[in-house]
Amino acid sequence: MSALVPVPARPTHTASGQPILYFTFDDGPAADTPSVLAALAEHGAQATFFVVGGRVQLLPETLRATLQAGHAVGNHSFTHPRFEGMPQVQLLKEIDETAKAVYEAAADLLPGGRMQLMRPPYGSTDANTEPWVNARGYAMVLWDIDPQDWSQPGTPAIVAQVLAEAAPGAIVLLHDGGGDRSQTAAALHTLLPQLAAAGYAFHALPAGQDG
Ligand SMILES: [Zn+2]
Repeated sequence: MSALVPVPARPTHTASGQPILYFTFDDGPAADTPSVLAALAEHGAQATFFVVGGRVQLLPETLRATLQAGHAVGNHSFTHPRFEGMPQVQLLKEIDETAKAVYEAAADLLPGGRMQLMRPPYGSTDANTEPWVNARGYAMVLWDIDPQDWSQPGTPAIVAQVLAEAAPGAIVLLHDGGGDRSQTAAALHTLLPQLAAAGYAFHALPAGQDG
């Protein structure tokens, strides 16, 4: 497990030629996660949720609902610290405690029995982060489009930035936790139908090296 874990191949288009957009939601499970799940379900969209272990312990049923809806789940640390400069033992504890929380809540629902993707909080990394994350068997995943929904810029601003930057194969960073995410959920009800009309399909990030 010490070799680099390559980021899984991410198709830009479906077999039938539709462009694919990869929505991701960080910092849950949380109070607004059900609203996000409902919006995704209403528009037939699949997504990826990077969960915080401490939140999983509080809301295990929300994690289960996320997996039962067919979405992918990745590791987003236990306490949401910055990884830059963090000692290895502490970083691995953040990852492993989150894995333990997720497996205790929903091992039976995890495809392949384990999480395979990891996103560092704030995208904060140093030269050690990716090798250490890889050593635990995770590929490290960041993002392409960041409308800063966590800052609550207003639903129209979130919608406008995602529409402006949407591109085949792009990863969109949004948040279902960490604060009031009603703007994010509302944005999805505009974004998903508009992007679908433009031809987009919405997939969960592929897990595992075989994509
Ligand atoms: Zn985060």
